[in-house]
Amino acid sequence: MKTFKFALAIGATVASLSFASTPTRAAPDLELWRLDCGDVIVKDLSMFSDTFAFAGKKGELTDSCYVIRHGGDYLLWDTGLPAGIIGKAPDQNAPIGVSLKTDIPTQLKQIGIKPEQIATVGISHNHFDHLGQAATFSKATLMIGAADWQTFHDNPPPFAVVPDLVKPWLDGKAKLDLVTGDRDVFGDGSVMMLSMPGHTKGEAALLVKLAKMGPVLLSGDVVHFEDNLATHGVPSFNENRADTLASMERLEAVAAGLNATLVIQHDPTHISRLPALPESAR
Ligand SMILES: [Zn+2]
Repeated sequence: MKTFKFALAIGATVASLSFASTPTRAAPDLELWRLDCGDVIVKDLSMFSDTFAFAGKKGELTDSCYVIRHGGDYLLWDTGLPAGIIGKAPDQNAPIGVSLKTDIPTQLKQIGIKPEQIATVGISHNHFDHLGQAATFSKATLMIGAADWQTFHDNPPPFAVVPDLVKPWLDGKAKLDLVTGDRDVFGDGSVMMLSMPGHTKGEAALLVKLAKMGPVLLSGDVVHFEDNLATHGVPSFNENRADTLASMERLEAVAAGLNATLVIQHDPTHISRLPALPESAR
């Protein structure tokens, strides 16, 4: 009798477990837009490989940002170059020349989104070309790698880290969400920030599991362009070489394993894998 009761209890537990694992919620309604967040001319790509793979080659890179709609919630992924440079020609003689045609709010207007609807600004890493327009969204929660946030407090801050760009959050006037490891952004596995340190200590990529297009993997700066990934070139200015290589391997493995569309955010040939505004990917 005891055994029978035990078997019944086990049976009930298994039944409830299998019930619990059956999805009861409808698949999330996801939409992804790509925004133009600037252009970058690199006089000599040498700095993007510490094995001298690109010596003497000029590079034309892009700077891209993304809006993800999850039901009625909006996430902005990266915020590009600062709007203050709009209309200024890039410095052709500088090692890196940057330019910007339009700002993020202007592009949001094109798709009927008000800046105040952006509840969360997710940041791949703490460099100026990803945080340029963050302060435009100071009502939003800033979601950023905890290790990257820490470097805003360094004196002097590391290369490409400009604390002024996150002043509302540094001053404690806006909400901050510091991320360690991976983060399931909406709690249903549909949008995930994946920890891939190396370029910076808190670098992350973003996985967006679209219903029709399938998974899209936004690279952050785990790599900067296709050849960079193909040759596993580690930029000389990266934080950690071993971490960079491990993260490149993870990026490739996630893309291959999920059959995801990899979008290298600084590569003009990659961003066209996603439609241009006002079109979206679903
Ligand atoms: Zn970048």
